[in-house]
Amino acid sequence: MEPVLNLKDWGMGFNNPLYIAGPCSVESEEQVMETVTELGKTGKVDLVRGGIWKPRTRPNSFEGIGEVGLRWLKAAGNAINKPVTVEVANAVHVYQSIRHQIDVLWIGARTSVNPFAVQEIADALNGIDIPVMIKNPINPDLSLWLGAVERIRQAGIKRVAVIHRGFSAYHHSKYRNQPRWELPIAFKREMPDVPVICDPSHICGRRDLLQEVSQKAIDLDFDGLMIESHINPDKALSDAKQQVTPANYQVLIDSIVQRNPEITGTELDELRDQIDSVDREIIEILAKRMNIAKAIGTYKKDNNITILQSKRWDEIANDRQSQGTSKGLTEDFMTELYRSIHKESIRQQSKVMN
Ligand code: PEP
Ligand code: MN
Repeated sequence: MEPVLNLKDWGMGFNNPLYIAGPCSVESEEQVMETVTELGKTGKVDLVRGGIWKPRTRPNSFEGIGEVGLRWLKAAGNAINKPVTVEVANAVHVYQSIRHQIDVLWIGARTSVNPFAVQEIADALNGIDIPVMIKNPINPDLSLWLGAVERIRQAGIKRVAVIHRGFSAYHHSKYRNQPRWELPIAFKREMPDVPVICDPSHICGRRDLLQEVSQKAIDLDFDGLMIESHINPDKALSDAKQQVTPANYQVLIDSIVQRNPEITGTELDELRDQIDSVDREIIEILAKRMNIAKAIGTYKKDNNITILQSKRWDEIANDRQSQGTSKGLTEDFMTELYRSIHKESIRQQSKVMN
């Protein structure tokens, strides 16, 4: 596969972090021109977004303005001298976007979930040199996300990025889509050269959460943000609750504290040395615990006792959880930690017994 190009080498004047903003949907010539003109004044937009074909969950809602909107979006981008991006879900969308000189394409979460659709887009892109951003599939499946990126890269696309927009769940809790930060982090480990952009708008589903999620993405060294902005959010034809006015977009971006991923220095080095040495101790102690578990396994074998005694395990789980929480460790962490320790103990004992 072709190597992936850094955002700085996309030839579009991009920097890190990359700021993408624009309406969820292109609705009218005026709406997109006014929104984008105001966004341009903030000086905080590198790439303008706008949905032309909208993948709506239920029918009979606004499904996008269609091809005519490509012209309006491109004109709005030209007015502020910035490139534009749209979502494509099939080959026809790709051809129409290319014909209207759209600068960057993105693949939505309901499309990246479907290898047939992604392959159709990849085939349509063959021989075309345009940047493509791939949103995570709606379900938390890392391989499916990686697979979508591989299909696009196999079409010869070198300017590739991914967008983390969260994962759907049956119950909406705080977020419209669960962030599951461990997935974009795991993605980075698998494909470290592919820039990862966060889409806080679709994670949050409501504007009051955008700040904390945007900051979290920057703290995790994401390469950019995609934020939905509308000249009159409450009147938006799609995703009204999560869009912000261009003025509030500026407030949001100005509030984000940039972090430097390169910082080292003696104090940090010392702290890291301490972590390394504590980790060595943790591993020693875990090995010691497993050796005791094995001795218990031998005893159980000799006396024909079952490996698992639920009552004893319940006692351990509860006791360790309260010990942990009394030391300021979270309940979730203690549960996961002991579930995993217990699993390993059973594995070690089964080896001894069989
Ligand atoms: C969008 O960006 O407007 C959109 C439909 O996003 P997603 O594919 O993340 O749902
Ligand atoms: Mn949207």
